[in-house]
Amino acid sequence: MTVLSIDIGGTNFRAGAVLEDGSVIKFEKVPTPSVFCSGDVLADLAGHLKAFSEGLTIDAVAIGFPATLDRDRKRVVQAPNIPFMEDLPVCDYLEEALGVPVVAERDVTFALCFDTDKYDVPDEGLVCGIYFGTGIGNAFLLDGKPLTGRHGAAGELGHIPVPGCTIPCGCGNVGCLEAVAGGKAIARIQRERFPETGIGDMFAFHSEDPAIVELIERMASAVTTEVNILDPDCVLLGGGVLTMKGFPRDLFEEYIRSQTRKPFPLNDLKLLYTEDEPDKSVIGGAIYARRKLAGR
Ligand SMILES: [Zn+2]
Repeated sequence: MTVLSIDIGGTNFRAGAVLEDGSVIKFEKVPTPSVFCSGDVLADLAGHLKAFSEGLTIDAVAIGFPATLDRDRKRVVQAPNIPFMEDLPVCDYLEEALGVPVVAERDVTFALCFDTDKYDVPDEGLVCGIYFGTGIGNAFLLDGKPLTGRHGAAGELGHIPVPGCTIPCGCGNVGCLEAVAGGKAIARIQRERFPETGIGDMFAFHSEDPAIVELIERMASAVTTEVNILDPDCVLLGGGVLTMKGFPRDLFEEYIRSQTRKPFPLNDLKLLYTEDEPDKSVIGGAIYARRKLAGR
């Protein structure tokens, strides 16, 4: 089965034709606005996918969104980075236009599918993915299937409220965790305290600065919050922040372990650090689509 898997981000649109063994036979990364230019979002998307897959036999389409989706995974509910995709019948439209099954999910769930496959994490039980990038991506797989919640909106660790924080968030609320515990916070600290340091060197040069230490503590408390609520079988950690030069992983883990409930989940806590690969959600989308269409 060949899956056409796409990832629609606020900046870039990625598409890949992925074979059963995970190899990608055709790939593109283009600016998202270049795909959606006529004003008819769904027609643009269908036309682009048809052109991309010309000469290929495509059996299914997987679409990853940086968004909340409805429980049936048919529509985007809220997408601050790609608001033009909100509340459109994207799956039904593409199935009609392309004649193949179309599945949609949050991009972070696709990333988690990629990582559980790559690192041979068993399907059984509850697996959490926490990805520290610009925001905080969060997803769960329960016995291999995404845990969606009643309205499809589960897994929003980045939007846990931080008392006293008044920074507005893209979700519409004020004082969300991802404003103080991820890439946005690093950028703010760099701007306010170390304008002469390149953002990529913030940990390498300033990991003992109190603002950076506090950031690490907040990132750790995000992980601990999830672990103490859910007692998961395994936690996969990833995202660009964790792979930045000089990231103080020992301190991060020390905070996590000190705040995790004892004796359990602490004594059997499985933290797995994943590599940051920009196209993991494209390949992960194909893995997810195969599982879902096979009824697994
Ligand atoms: Zn928020």
